[in-house]
Amino acid sequence: MSSGLLLKHAQLSGGPASDVRIQGGHIATVASAGELAPAAGEQVLDLSGYLLLPAPAEPHAHLDKAFTAERFGRAAPDLMTAIKQWHAHRATLSVEDVVERARAAALQTLARGATAIRTHVDVGEGIRLRGVEALLTLRDELRELIDIQVVALAYPVAGEAWADHRQMLCEAAEMGVDLVGGAPHVTDDPSGDLEVALAVGERYGLGVDLHTDERMEESHGLEELCQRCAEDFALPATASHCVSLGTMPAETQTKIAARVRHAGVGVVTCPLTNLLLQGLGISTLTPRGLTAIHPLLKAGAMLAAGGDNVQDVFNPIGCGDPLQTAQLVMAAGQLDAETAYRLVSDGARAVMGLPAVGFEPGSPAELLAVRAHSLSHAIATVTEDRIVIRGERVVVRTRVEREIDSAVGAFELA
Ligand SMILES: [Zn+2]
Repeated sequence: MSSGLLLKHAQLSGGPASDVRIQGGHIATVASAGELAPAAGEQVLDLSGYLLLPAPAEPHAHLDKAFTAERFGRAAPDLMTAIKQWHAHRATLSVEDVVERARAAALQTLARGATAIRTHVDVGEGIRLRGVEALLTLRDELRELIDIQVVALAYPVAGEAWADHRQMLCEAAEMGVDLVGGAPHVTDDPSGDLEVALAVGERYGLGVDLHTDERMEESHGLEELCQRCAEDFALPATASHCVSLGTMPAETQTKIAARVRHAGVGVVTCPLTNLLLQGLGISTLTPRGLTAIHPLLKAGAMLAAGGDNVQDVFNPIGCGDPLQTAQLVMAAGQLDAETAYRLVSDGARAVMGLPAVGFEPGSPAELLAVRAHSLSHAIATVTEDRIVIRGERVVVRTRVEREIDSAVGAFELA
């Protein structure tokens, strides 16, 4: 029986050094540093030198694809080539193979601080339901460490020719996935694919998370989804990427952002993969490939930033690190550190339908300690020196050791 955890001398972002008591998995007390004395049987963790943050969450991952870049050859230069390349290879994957790689990616993301991950998993020709089986196994296996939400990603699903995909999507729902996914914008019938996803969601009582308008060309999937949510789709809906919105005139972005807010649709931007795969071949005024971040923020829409691919054929340099995502969205989206971090923490949790975490008494104790003196410093260095706290447990601790040749001089590093 655990008797609580006392965190001593933690720097809170924008606040004073504090002691934080965790009891029953929740924040019990926050006091000035040095004020709280350990109670009998209470574990104590000295966080001097660490910044203590509400833990981030990863709202957009593809754990089933992780770490396949080297196995399947050179990563593709653009999204459509990557999709073709991936579909040619996914038939070769066994359940065990997916579990192993997905576990490694999930634990890596947990070590970087995310205590919840929403992952899409391919469903369709070649892979069938093996990815779903793998991810559901992993969701249960890691339940104590990390909340995993599984999104069944199938496309195309509309029309006579794709009855098999529709059937598999329903089977995935029956197996217990958390959400229905899709990628209507890459199919011949985007509206048809959207309707199938919503119908399957309604039939099984599941929300949807759709890859939406992940292209520079004009695309209206986000508006259609908002329309359907405003009409009669009453379950949670997320639109991931929404790249084409970022290419529209400012007044159109403002109008659509207001609709997104009104419809309660969550938007997830994925800066690393979008910067890598979008706008290829445009050498002048190269677009950033991100959604309309500022209009969405201004409208008060639910917005999050995700890491997306982890060293797969879509993106060989992802590592599932929310601080890296915050750094990228801060630079590419021109945000301040607080807003950038909010997109990978509160914003991500809101999109994922999870309760907010913070330092108010009663808040779930999902915390990340980073060896840094401020939020900007943490985002600047993206140090791996981190401690992840969940409930009353330290679930991962990463130590960074650095040695500089002392014969040259005694140096202190920032
Ligand atoms: Zn994705």
